[in-house]
Amino acid sequence: MKKYIVLSFSVYLGVMTAFAQGNLDSQIVDRAAEVEDKVLSWRRDFHAHPELGNEETRTAGIVADHLRSLGMEVTEGVAVTGVVGILKGGKPGPTVALRADMDALPVTERNELPFRSQVRTTYNGQETGVMHACGHDSHVAILMGAAEVLASMKKDLKGTVKFIFQPAEEGLEDKTVSTWGAKQMVEEGVMEDVAAVFGLHINSQTPVGVIKYKSGPAMAAVDNLEIRVKGRQAHGAYPWSSVDPIVTSSQIVMGLQTIVSRNVKIIEIPAIVTIGAIHGGVRHNIIPEEVEMIGTIRTYSEPQQSLIHRRIREIAGNIAESAGAAAEVSIKKMYPVTHNDPELTEKMRPTLEKVAGSENVRLHDPVTGAEDFSFFQKERPGLFIFLGGMPADGDPETAPSHHTPDFYLDESGFVLGVKALSQLAVDYMEMN
Ligand SMILES: [Zn+2]
Ligand SMILES: [Zn+2]
Repeated sequence: MKKYIVLSFSVYLGVMTAFAQGNLDSQIVDRAAEVEDKVLSWRRDFHAHPELGNEETRTAGIVADHLRSLGMEVTEGVAVTGVVGILKGGKPGPTVALRADMDALPVTERNELPFRSQVRTTYNGQETGVMHACGHDSHVAILMGAAEVLASMKKDLKGTVKFIFQPAEEGLEDKTVSTWGAKQMVEEGVMEDVAAVFGLHINSQTPVGVIKYKSGPAMAAVDNLEIRVKGRQAHGAYPWSSVDPIVTSSQIVMGLQTIVSRNVKIIEIPAIVTIGAIHGGVRHNIIPEEVEMIGTIRTYSEPQQSLIHRRIREIAGNIAESAGAAAEVSIKKMYPVTHNDPELTEKMRPTLEKVAGSENVRLHDPVTGAEDFSFFQKERPGLFIFLGGMPADGDPETAPSHHTPDFYLDESGFVLGVKALSQLAVDYMEMN
């Protein structure tokens, strides 16, 4: 009899827990639908008023007011213009972070939307438009929506949700320093109490309704490469008295092609070494003293990254030496790898299937672009997913890509983002 009572009590608890969880799931669906119109109008407003990295004061102000209106503890001015909101659930549990990036780009919009951007600025000395050409306007609106959804179920949440609205994902660069909003937020301690972090990126070439993810290395690490080849200047008609840095640089460019084809274990993971510019000389009959090359390196793991750095130095250095020239190689690390913690990814995959339907959750290939979300993932396990933003009848091959003047998003895909972020937070807290 006693055993029966204990058993039935534990069954009762189990059923109640499942009921409570199921209840939260259905609340997410309902509340996300209720908040959808607001998400679209926030996004249109941000789209019409884009702000470049570390200048997102208007955006940040709207975000902070919204989070405060939901009863959150809000900190502004984190990493210059960032906003952090804390939602303490009614039950004890871990702190889970949800992140959105707020910055726009120096791109002139060509879309004929009623809320198209007409903002203009001077960037690196050039007149240009400013546009949310990467879709960060949708990220801010989606996370504001998720904040409203989660705040409405505050008393049932088993932990704390930290809403991170960060500036300057696209990076801020001048000759000496490069920085990113996420990097600076980490330096200001934003990840210290966080157990796991989730983020998404809208994608203009993935159909609405689809979520894409990849376990492990998902987006590349980026390094900037600079090679200076120093030779000896001479008259172009007397090449024997020169050490020709142009011929030497040509050999170096060709030598670098063997790194990916002959040194990288490409069956495991790809890599890229690209020379994007080469400068040397001023006149047809002068062999110059020096040639400068710049390029980009994309890798997916630290061992692969060090191998490639070593081979670049060996190839450039030894080819230059064989010609009697000298090569100075400098490599500057930019973004780390966007690495989705495999255990966390495996654990959260059912959540993605729950919100999108299992047929709409797909794996993606390694992306050769980069994300500053990677700085958060260096601190704590994180998962970064892609959300479909292309009209369902669109063609991924021809849909305008990110960072272009025709970049376009189908807004009907946003509500899935609200659901995904809310559900990731809830399910993570339920599981931990
Ligand atoms: Zn971008
Ligand atoms: Zn982006």
